[in-house]
Amino acid sequence: MNENILLVEDEQALRTALEVRLRAEGYVVDIAKDGHEGLQKATNLPFDLIILDVVLPYRNGFDVCREVRQQGLATPILILTVRDQVFDKVVGLTLGADDYMTKPFETAELIARIQAILRRVPFRTGLGVHDFGSVRVDVPRAEVTRDGKPLNLTRREFQLLCYLIERAGATVPRTELLRSLWGYEASVFTRTVDAHVCSLRQKLEDKPGQPELIMT
Ligand code: CA
Repeated sequence: MNENILLVEDEQALRTALEVRLRAEGYVVDIAKDGHEGLQKATNLPFDLIILDVVLPYRNGFDVCREVRQQGLATPILILTVRDQVFDKVVGLTLGADDYMTKPFETAELIARIQAILRRVPFRTGLGVHDFGSVRVDVPRAEVTRDGKPLNLTRREFQLLCYLIERAGATVPRTELLRSLWGYEASVFTRTVDAHVCSLRQKLEDKPGQPELIMT
């Protein structure tokens, strides 16, 4: 599948080791050596996943993560943190990271986490641009605009939207959405789906009360 991974890591030995291993696993790897370069690449190039170290020159990983999300990008982010930074892990996930790994770690474990994250993501770069009336969804850039103005969708909202676009015209059961996007098997969380569909409608529809794009 050749997913694109951005590796943001300032420690050369670790960066090189990970780069070699990720390439061997079939991923296309781009690297950044500090937070500034990492943010530049993360917000200007389409990646399927970003591996982001926390302690970096110029801008730290949390700062980069927050900025990427504030720019409306839904790219999955895996944070590399240091042993016992419990507080940091919580902060990282609150900022919109998808997962974290504590250094030192086994590379095999990192690969397993990467595969798990990429499996959760129901879209791939290159799915194209879709127009729905005044709404335009640019999947490779993870951008959604309405009347040319950018909409700030959360990563979940964007994933939900992409999932529904792929199945346009079909009825998608809540339980399927939960399993595919949230990884839940139980149906007790259907309110989660309803809440996200509701917030998507608020952002996309002219009259959220009389939806024309996303029908129940
Ligand atoms: Ca570092």
